[in-house]
Amino acid sequence: MIDFRLSDEHKSIQNIAKSFAEKEILPFAADLDKKPKENEQLRKDIVKKAFDLGFNSVLIPEKYGGSGLGEIALVMIEEQIAKADISIASCIGVSACIPEMILKWGNDEQKDYFLNSYINNNSTPSILGFGITEPYGGTEATCPFPGRDRGCRTLAIDNGDHYVVRGNKTFTSNAGIAKLYGFIARTTYDEPMGKSGIIVFVPDGAPGLSFGKKEEMMGFKASNQREIMLDDVVVPKKYVIGKPGQALEIIIDFFTTKAIGTAALMLGVASSAYEYVLNYAKQRNTYGVPIIDHQIVAEKIAQMKMEYEAAKLLVLKAAWHAENNIKRDSTYCAMAKVYATEMARNVTISSLQVMGAYGYSCEYPIEKKIRDALAGLVIGPTNERLRIIIAELEKQK
Ligand SMILES: Cc1cc2nc3c(=O)[nH]c(=O)nc-3n(C[C@H](O)[C@H](O)[C@H](O)COP(=O)(O)OP(=O)(O)OC[C@H]3O[C@@H](n4cnc5c(N)ncnc54)[C@H](O)[C@@H]3O)c2cc1C
Repeated sequence: MIDFRLSDEHKSIQNIAKSFAEKEILPFAADLDKKPKENEQLRKDIVKKAFDLGFNSVLIPEKYGGSGLGEIALVMIEEQIAKADISIASCIGVSACIPEMILKWGNDEQKDYFLNSYINNNSTPSILGFGITEPYGGTEATCPFPGRDRGCRTLAIDNGDHYVVRGNKTFTSNAGIAKLYGFIARTTYDEPMGKSGIIVFVPDGAPGLSFGKKEEMMGFKASNQREIMLDDVVVPKKYVIGKPGQALEIIIDFFTTKAIGTAALMLGVASSAYEYVLNYAKQRNTYGVPIIDHQIVAEKIAQMKMEYEAAKLLVLKAAWHAENNIKRDSTYCAMAKVYATEMARNVTISSLQVMGAYGYSCEYPIEKKIRDALAGLVIGPTNERLRIIIAELEKQK
């Protein structure tokens, strides 16, 4: 039997996130977008309150101090928070999905250590970051082939009980504000990623770890994307998750949670734009009638609504698969990310069209929504890469 209704638990977390977003974020949304530097403290305060509500620990089982509510709950949270501000939602989303990697691929000692020292430690918000993208490319960083000029260039030299890690990552979200970072690296350029790829975790403050300036992005103004320099950082082997050679497998699995997360952010961007523009189309009159009564405008409203609802079904289906299957269905995760990000682009651009010059004006919220929506297309894995993955997975069936 199929039941499309949300459970009481999911409704409850959705309502908590909605009310948090409306009270604690929405009043500051314009400031968060326009004055990121001045609002650093504001962002930290909001994130701290969000973490106090447990938004970052829904994928962590109760046994390790989380709520274990699961992927669908995380979609609810990310959508509601992204309706108010995508940067705050993204900070929560990234921090929420990294512990899952540790839980899934780490050993018992690592789970205890990382979760207690860096994630469930309430003294400061447990903001986390994960660096894959390098100056040579984000897509390139997961290229499986051997060679010095192929794939991930960050090198981890085996030195007995530790690795010495050197390389640069770019565009890492939460860089400079996180307590703990994960990175993909290679033990040698001579072997393919399937033999040489490893995942290392590095705490903030580790000698040799430093950050570049905050990237000035089109949207996501209140988030922190920075270059990260790893200059002979000593990483004890107990900070390496999974076995050597397993990095690609771990990253592909991580991408599935992250892809659902990016898709959920885009549901928030699109639904907030849609709700705003629907109201506008009912209020604004031309030729003696509300513009929604002009069929060509009505068609845009209908199209936006249909695309949003279709994307939401796909995102929830991907989240349901992730929550209920031991092995995730990567096809659904990939389809959800591609479809929801393109839906958000379409919905926000149509919103501008329905609002005319007010849609283009910085005094109104739609232009920000467009800037935020466009990021979804390039956040890794890019939609081009995901389309190839979807087709490859289909071919194997
Ligand atoms: C808001 C934001 C947050 C981000 N956060 C993070 C983060 O936390 N951590 C992190 O590591 N990165 C992060 N990134 C970076 C992001 O993941 C990369 O931009 C993305 O992976 C693409 O890499 P690239 O920009 O180097 O483009 P490239 O990989 O150089 O790709 C350029 C173009 O070529 C296409 N292309 C390249 N190779 C292939 C291929 N094999 N098949 C098909 N098409 C291909 C791409 O689709 C794209 O259109 C973030 C980016 C943004 C905008």
